[in-house]
Amino acid sequence: MTLTTGYERVTLPLANAFTISRGTTEAAENVIVRITDEGGMTGIGGAAPSAHYGETADTVEAVLPDLLAVVEEIGDPHALTEIERRMAHVVERNPAARCAVSIALHDLAAKRTGLPLSRLWGLNPTEAPTSSFTIGLDTTPKVREKTADAVDEGYSVLKVKLGTDRDKELIEAIREEAPDATLRVDANEAWTPRETVRNSRWLAEHDVEFIEQPVPAEDPEGLKFAYERSELPIAADESCLTLADIPEIADKCDIANLKLMKCGGLLEAKRMVHAARAHGLEVMLGCMVESNASIAAGAHLGPLLDYADLDGSLLLADDPYEGVDLSQGEIRLDELDRPGTGARRAE
Ligand code: MG
Repeated sequence: MTLTTGYERVTLPLANAFTISRGTTEAAENVIVRITDEGGMTGIGGAAPSAHYGETADTVEAVLPDLLAVVEEIGDPHALTEIERRMAHVVERNPAARCAVSIALHDLAAKRTGLPLSRLWGLNPTEAPTSSFTIGLDTTPKVREKTADAVDEGYSVLKVKLGTDRDKELIEAIREEAPDATLRVDANEAWTPRETVRNSRWLAEHDVEFIEQPVPAEDPEGLKFAYERSELPIAADESCLTLADIPEIADKCDIANLKLMKCGGLLEAKRMVHAARAHGLEVMLGCMVESNASIAAGAHLGPLLDYADLDGSLLLADDPYEGVDLSQGEIRLDELDRPGTGARRAE
């Protein structure tokens, strides 16, 4: 079959500048991929490249022609396994670029069968956990204000970025503004192993659920030290990129935080879910700052997850794409009224 492909870069300003321990982002650049079959049906996917992992919109655009050549050559939108495997062979790095193609193909394949992607996978659309909404770093009064706004908007699970010299003050302010919320903490590699153990004690007193990536990914033994002594469960994000990382982190954390843009495709993400479970880990799916062109696909993995952090589109000032309804963090897969991932241009 002749498959027609194309892509375009989109700049996505954030509603608020987003700061984590490593730096601040004011706008994200995503690259949107389209794959159209002979009947005119189109699958949509998005790449949300992360400079932390060596990708930018430029590197995505540089490799997409080679990746889309694989799609056109194989010419079968249902050959998902073969296309993902060949793409990983053609462009070994650049997972966000490969992921955009994987998502667009899955969207097209599901549309061609007339089913939402999660139903094509045989998943129960009512089983997705509630997604967290992230509170980035800021001055304490601003963090207080953002937390109050999030609670007003109905978010019940908040993920709090830490890694400053006033982490305790931030958590106290957030807990005051959100007394009933589930709170998770992400230090983005900013703490030492010993700091993590110390911090876990007062975080536990504030009823925090778990700590994400407290120590640098380059220090696996430090992660293990923290995991063995922390009062709270530890999630691995920067330490957990691809399938091969799962056995490496299995004795160093409680939760594997997968991201489509780190692992390079939806089939690879599903393999990681099952590998993580086989190693006794719980599974979380996170995201970058992404439009619904890719977030919608992540939502369909919802029923396989213990924890979801799919707020990438919710952090944008305006998303040109709509997908699965994620308002208040509820992943409303069961309300999706169209086949595929649900990604389409917003009207
Ligand atoms: Mg993280």
